[in-house]
Amino acid sequence: MGDQTVAAGSAPADGAQAAQAGTAHTEHPTGAAHETHPTRSYGLLLGGEWREARDGKRAAIRSPFDGSIVGEVALATAQDADDAIEAAAQGAAQWRRTPAHERAAILLRAAALADARTDELATTISLENGKPFAEAKGEAGRSGALIRLAAHEGTQLYGDSLPLDANPGTGQDKVGFTLRQPVGIVVAITPFNYPALLVLHKVGPALAAGNAVILKPASATPLTALALASIFVEAGVPEGVISVLTGPGGPIGDALVRDPRVRKISFTGSTGVGERIASLASVKKLSLELGASSPTVILPGVDIEKAAAAVAAGGYVNAGQVCISVQRVIVHREVEADFLDALRPKVEAIRMGDPLAEGTTLGPLVAEREAERVAQSIARAVDDGATLLTGGERDGAFVSPAIVTGVDTRQAFAQEELFGPAVAVTTVDSFDAAIGAANGTPYGLAAGVFGGTLGEGVRAMREIDAGSVHLGWTPLWRADLMPYGGLKASGYGKEGVRSTVEEMTEVKTVIIHG
Ligand code: NAP
Repeated sequence: MGDQTVAAGSAPADGAQAAQAGTAHTEHPTGAAHETHPTRSYGLLLGGEWREARDGKRAAIRSPFDGSIVGEVALATAQDADDAIEAAAQGAAQWRRTPAHERAAILLRAAALADARTDELATTISLENGKPFAEAKGEAGRSGALIRLAAHEGTQLYGDSLPLDANPGTGQDKVGFTLRQPVGIVVAITPFNYPALLVLHKVGPALAAGNAVILKPASATPLTALALASIFVEAGVPEGVISVLTGPGGPIGDALVRDPRVRKISFTGSTGVGERIASLASVKKLSLELGASSPTVILPGVDIEKAAAAVAAGGYVNAGQVCISVQRVIVHREVEADFLDALRPKVEAIRMGDPLAEGTTLGPLVAEREAERVAQSIARAVDDGATLLTGGERDGAFVSPAIVTGVDTRQAFAQEELFGPAVAVTTVDSFDAAIGAANGTPYGLAAGVFGGTLGEGVRAMREIDAGSVHLGWTPLWRADLMPYGGLKASGYGKEGVRSTVEEMTEVKTVIIHG
């Protein structure tokens, strides 16, 4: 096992060295004192070993709620990235020769471990990310099922037989078919907002399909990723098949992305970093799950209560730090007043507080600078002519849940990804204007539609340029098996376990010449 409980703030020279339990404690800016928690310290997971970074540097991980230290990790260098690729090359060679049923059995053991550790994983998520415990538990609780889905899909690497004799110039003297095989080395780079789910959406399918995977989790939330990697190691994933490099995305990311031994990069994060990865990757398979400014369209005929309740959840879950968050509501003028009357009290009832305290429904953003950025975006929207109906006040890393009305889709507040607890309301006079506004940003990840006629629903599902369109709900909905990924600046490639297994395998055509 590579994780031990250590005294908060201590910096053991050897990441595999056990140390005593400790606690951390700081004052929250609003004066609330955070409960004390044990912290965890990790080295890098490289070639089946837990070890320190080459230059021995480490960093503390802090709670965004109160700044207390909740863990500590090694900071990998480009040289460590090279070591990880070397180990992965050996791991991949062994793992691709391991029968699918054996790989699946190991993953099923990992799923059982993840189930048994749901509360522990949820606490880690909540501590390092700041989301309320109930949300963290919902996320952690999906881990086992997601790994099981991956285990199954890894046993379904079917090919096709080719009717070669249908091609003029060939006869019945040949047999052709396709084989699906692992790509080799997968690099998985993940963001901070769903530290368990987005790691497992890459690592589970990569392992199930027979690849070695090198994981680079977000610097803000590495502890959940390391806890999950420990589970895979404990379940029996062989040396070198899974490595975890914690540390700064720039230098580690560039080293991994440029290396020709890596065959596949699966990235989830901001559009800016995705563009850099695409420019450096050269000839590799890429999946880019990027930013968004997701719309929800509200049309006459809407069930106002249902739509308001869904938006009051979908705009503020995880403090709005969700790629499929309801950033924009596009409401038809006929139902605007009733919709806002229903939405406002629901948003004002959201309870900010300690993420681990019972009853908290909104935690801090992942960092105070993020809360500053969100508060500034709201202030700029008002300068640009919008109206702040409620919320939008910052206290440390918290921003109170906001509704901003009268937003023109051309404004920065609609055009740029907000990633914060605010919803921008744009009022339109027709169905066509609603579709125009929904499509009016550079992004296209997901969209929702409430109300309207059957004909409008059919038009909306065809005409909204988004990777998923939800009729009767907001974009904030995902089943782990469904194909999931964006259009336009939201990226390309699909996740969702079956799709990911497809993207992490290669199709080889075999012809037998009789
Ligand atoms: P981010 O800043 O782009 O970081 C994502 C990951 O990329 C982190 O692990 C980061 O490491 C790493 N990274 C940074 N620079 C890199 C480089 N030059 N090369 C390779 N990797 C590099 O995103 P974030 O702030 O963590 O997450 C929020 C973003 O993710 C939002 O834009 C959101 O929409 C997007 N997201 C998209 C989806 C989707 O499915 N489309 C899902 C969730 C989130 P460090 O942390 O060390 O910088």
